[in-house]
Amino acid sequence: MSVLFQKAQHVREHVSMGQLLDSYGVPLREDQLKAYKTSQIPCPIHGVDNHKSAKFFESSNSFYCWTCSKVYSPIDLVMEKEGFSFAEAVNFLLPLSKVPFVAVDEISLLNAQLEKKSCAESSFEDRIILLDQKCRWIYKNGYLLSDAIRLFELIDNVSLSHNSVHLQKLEEVVDNVQCSR
Ligand SMILES: [Zn+2]
Repeated sequence: MSVLFQKAQHVREHVSMGQLLDSYGVPLREDQLKAYKTSQIPCPIHGVDNHKSAKFFESSNSFYCWTCSKVYSPIDLVMEKEGFSFAEAVNFLLPLSKVPFVAVDEISLLNAQLEKKSCAESSFEDRIILLDQKCRWIYKNGYLLSDAIRLFELIDNVSLSHNSVHLQKLEEVVDNVQCSR
């Protein structure tokens, strides 16, 4: 999902159509809103008329105009009113959102960084213990005893040498054995 598409979704949900309409001189009827979560409004697109040709829906944060035969989202509204392109409308509305926008890709990137950090920060001993646990799992799950013993020996050697390059290699070997199962 592109960042622009994510921003557009965010704007449709979190930029108040009620406030936008108000800023264009189309106030919502509070009594109707309270009773029905909708409000009859004059359409701000085809020319503000005295006939209440459109209806605002709180549930979808949009309005429908019977004369235009169209649903308007906050994006559609400012595209029509300001002559913006889709991207311009999205970027114009984004700062009006009450909820801060965070792109999904940025979140997963952040998570990946956090994971990397915690892995790099975990001590040599912790990693040896984890390897040992993995080897026990491998042994219990039906690997040849000789293979398991070989892995335990390697863990012992790496543990004694305190060589982090060898440790990393061994982690890869053990992970591969686990995955091949
Ligand atoms: Zn209209």
